[in-house]
Amino acid sequence: MSSERHIVALVPAYNEEESIAATIEAVLNQERVPDKIVIIPNGCSDRTADIARTFPVTVMELPRLEHKKSEALNRAWLQYAQDADVVICLDADTVLPPNAIGDWEQEFVYDWARHGSQAVTAFAGTGSSPAPLRSRDIRELPLGGSSSKFTMLGKDFLTRLQRAEFSRWTDTALRRGWTSVLAGTGAAISGEALRQVAAMDDREGPWIYSSQVEDFELTYRIRQLGYRCQVSPTVRAYTDAMKTVKALWGQRMKWQVGTIEDLLKIGVNRLTVMDWFQQLSGMFSAFARYLWVAVILTLCLVGHLRFQWLWWVAVPLFFVVLQVKHAHRIPHRDRVDVLYAFLIIPSEAFAWLRAGWFTAAWIQAPVDLIRGRHKDRWGLQYRAEAFRRGLVGKLRLAGIRVVAASGIATVALLSIGNLVPASGLPTVEAIARTGTGAINHSGPATCRGYVALTYDDGPTQYTAATSDLLRRYGLHAAFFLTGEHTELNPDAVRALAADGQMIGNHTVTHPHLTDLPISQAKQEILDNADLIEAVTGQRPTLFRPPYGDTNDKLSAFALRNGMPETLWTLDTNDWIGKTPSQVDDEIGKAKDGDIILMHDDEDTDIKTVALIASTLRRLDLCTGRIVPDSASHHIPLLDKSHSVKVVPW
Ligand SMILES: [Zn+2]
Repeated sequence: MSSERHIVALVPAYNEEESIAATIEAVLNQERVPDKIVIIPNGCSDRTADIARTFPVTVMELPRLEHKKSEALNRAWLQYAQDADVVICLDADTVLPPNAIGDWEQEFVYDWARHGSQAVTAFAGTGSSPAPLRSRDIRELPLGGSSSKFTMLGKDFLTRLQRAEFSRWTDTALRRGWTSVLAGTGAAISGEALRQVAAMDDREGPWIYSSQVEDFELTYRIRQLGYRCQVSPTVRAYTDAMKTVKALWGQRMKWQVGTIEDLLKIGVNRLTVMDWFQQLSGMFSAFARYLWVAVILTLCLVGHLRFQWLWWVAVPLFFVVLQVKHAHRIPHRDRVDVLYAFLIIPSEAFAWLRAGWFTAAWIQAPVDLIRGRHKDRWGLQYRAEAFRRGLVGKLRLAGIRVVAASGIATVALLSIGNLVPASGLPTVEAIARTGTGAINHSGPATCRGYVALTYDDGPTQYTAATSDLLRRYGLHAAFFLTGEHTELNPDAVRALAADGQMIGNHTVTHPHLTDLPISQAKQEILDNADLIEAVTGQRPTLFRPPYGDTNDKLSAFALRNGMPETLWTLDTNDWIGKTPSQVDDEIGKAKDGDIILMHDDEDTDIKTVALIASTLRRLDLCTGRIVPDSASHHIPLLDKSHSVKVVPW
C-alpha cells in the first residue's frame, strides 16, 4: 500500500539483544508498515546490532554517546527523519499490535483534514499566547503527538501492580484528552512539531541533553508551541515490566528526579500546573502515610490503640470498593488482578514504594540541582535491570516476600469468615473420606438433553480432585488448559486424561489473541497443543480463545489443526467469587445443548460439583461430549459463532 505520507520509525537500543527481534518483527508486521525503520544500537556490548541487521531495516550503529538515548535519537532524526510527516518513536523492548501505526496515521490524517493543512503552524511563540487550560479548548489544537497506551504482560506480582498503575495513567489521560508525556516507550509525533522544536536554540535536534526525562521535556516543548499531545484511544503497546523492586526503584527514581528537575527549571505555568499538582498530591499522600504510621505507633506506645469499626473495617472497605472498581479497567485483567485489588495489601505495598521514591526524589533533585551534580540514572536503572537479567529468579528481594506474606495473611484472615461450610456441601475432607468408589448415584433414568460442562484456565491444585469427583457423580467435562499451568501441574493433566475428560487448548499464556500479531497468536495455540501432547500423549481436541477474544482467521486456523473453536452459551461468572450455590443457580438455567463456562481454580469448584449433579438430575440433563459440527452456531449472548455441538457422551 503506498501513501503520500512519509512515516519514519526510530528505535534507539542499548543492549537489547533479548527483545529487539520481537520489536522489529512487530513493526514489520504492521498493517501500515513505516516507510523507513531505523534501528539505532548505541554503545551496545551485545548482539543487538547483529540481530537488527538480519531484518530489512536501516541499522545506524553508534558508539557510546555522551548523551545516550537523546543523542542517538537526534542523530537518527537528522539523518533520516527530518522530512517525515510522522515520526514513530519506540523503545527496543516495545511490541506494537498490528493496527498501531495505521491507527496513528489516521489520527494525524483526521487532524490535518480538520485543520486544513498538515504543515499547520500552531500559534507559535514561547509563552506569548497563553495555552488553553480547559480540555475542551485543548481538543481544538492541532495534534502534536499521540502516545500509546502501554501495558505489560505477565502474571507475576510486580508486573500486575505496574499494569494497574499504567492503566490508571492511561485512563486519566484519555479522560482529560491530553497528556504531558508522549512516552518514549511508544509514541507517534508530528514531523512538523519536531522540526519546530529542533529549531529552538538550545538544542541539536528535537531531544534535549539536559533532561533525564527527554520524552517529558520534548512533550512540554511541543505543547508550548501550541500543539495538543494525547494518548491514543486505540493504540496499545506492550513493554517489559520491571521485575525486581530494585529495578523498579531505579526506573522510578530516574523518572521522578528528572521530572522534578525539569519542573523546577520550567517553573509553574499553565502547561505545567497539572504536573505540579500531581507532584504535590504525591507528596501529600506520602506524608499522610507517614503520619498514619506515626499516629498508630504513638497510640500503641501509650496503650490507647483499640479496635474501632470505622478505622479497621469501614475505611479499608471503602478503598477496596474503589480498587475493585478500577481493576475492571485494567487491560488483560484476569481474576488475580481483581483479587489483588480486593486484597488491597498489594496495592498498599505499591503505594508505600511510591511514597518512598516520591520522598527520595524530592530530597535528591534539589540537592543535585544545588550541587550541580548529575547522577547517571540511566546507568543506575540499566544496572538494576541487568542485575535481574543475570540472576533471574534467585534475587527476588526480601521486600517482595514480605508483601507476598502479608497478602497470604490477609487471605487467611478473610477466609476465617468462610471457614464454616454451608450445610449440605461436601468439604474437601469429606470428599477425601469417600474414597475412590462411585458415589451412589447412577444419573437420571432418562437424559432429555445434553449439556457440556467446561472448566477454563487450569490445571490447578484442585483440578484432579474436581475431575475425580465429576467421575464419581457420573459427570463429564471439558478442561481448557493453559500451557503455563500445564507446566506447573503436569500430574493434574495426566489425571484428566486418565479420567477420560475432554482436554481443550486455552493457549500458553492466556493473552488477548486478537491484539497479537497473527503469527504469534498461532504460535500460542500450537505451542500449547505440543505441550499438552508431551504430557498426555494426546493432542487437545478443542480450542477456546482466552476471554472469548477471537476472529475468523484464528477460528479457521484452530479448526484446520483439529481443534474446533469452542465458546460458551452459558456463563456462570464463577470467577467473581460466587459461592457454590450461586454458581449452581446459574446452572439451573441450563437447557439442552448448552456449553457451560466455569473455572477450576478454586476449592469452591469442588464443592459445586455435588450441587451441579443434583441440579442436572432435576432438569433431566446429562453431560455430553463436545464435537465439531459443520454448521456454525451463532451465540446471541456473545455475538460470535462456533462450530461445535454437544452430543451424548
Ligand atoms: Zn481463560
